[in-house]
Amino acid sequence: MRIILLGSPGAGKGTQAVLLSKKFNIPHISTGDLLRQAVRNETSLGKEAKSYIDRGVLVPDNLVTLLVENKLEAIDAGKGFILDGFPRNIQQAIAVDAILKKLSTVIDWVIYLKASEETIIQRLSGRRVCKDCGVNFHIKNLPPKNEGICDNCGGRLIQRDDDKLSTIKNRIKTYEQQTKDLVEYYQKKEKLKEVSGDLSAEDALTQLEKFFSCLK
Ligand code: AMP
Repeated sequence: MRIILLGSPGAGKGTQAVLLSKKFNIPHISTGDLLRQAVRNETSLGKEAKSYIDRGVLVPDNLVTLLVENKLEAIDAGKGFILDGFPRNIQQAIAVDAILKKLSTVIDWVIYLKASEETIIQRLSGRRVCKDCGVNFHIKNLPPKNEGICDNCGGRLIQRDDDKLSTIKNRIKTYEQQTKDLVEYYQKKEKLKEVSGDLSAEDALTQLEKFFSCLK
């Protein structure tokens, strides 16, 4: 299964991507994670991307598209993957179609997680991330065993700069302006499945499992 996850930051894309990646045993490709890794590693791409990420605006299409292209070429894309956070605009959607065409494959389904602004702000402002391994926690919904310490590697948990309230509002605005066109784009291609992003992770997964089992 080749899946794209669409939705605002905080709609639960990352969480569902991890769950679906386990269910279908396919790789999870998150452009946010790839970019943050490049920033941590201080690569030239990471240095260029940092100022955009910190402001909550989109990194230029050519940089992100190159990351995705390299990743899709490195895996066996025809066997399936979950793309999380890409595409974020129509140009990127056209780019992913072209990359997949070169790899003789296509997208099967686009899952749209639609969440209210209240949910988004609650999720993002409470999110904490491990500064060493990048694993996410939430102060209320998914607290670590020891406050401020990563369960996975013992690293220190921090709040992402772009999860501060002023940047969250910017990110929602960026999403509204650019990503909503994508919903229309994939609706026209009859590949879109909408699921409420206000549900708990378990309930959203149950809905998705029902949807995918009906396809068989
Ligand atoms: P995320 O973790 O998906 O919320 O992404 C964090 C930040 O990375 C975004 O606010 C953007 O600055 C950047 N980013 C992630 N994916 C993309 C993309 N497809 N296009 C442009 N910028 C992106």
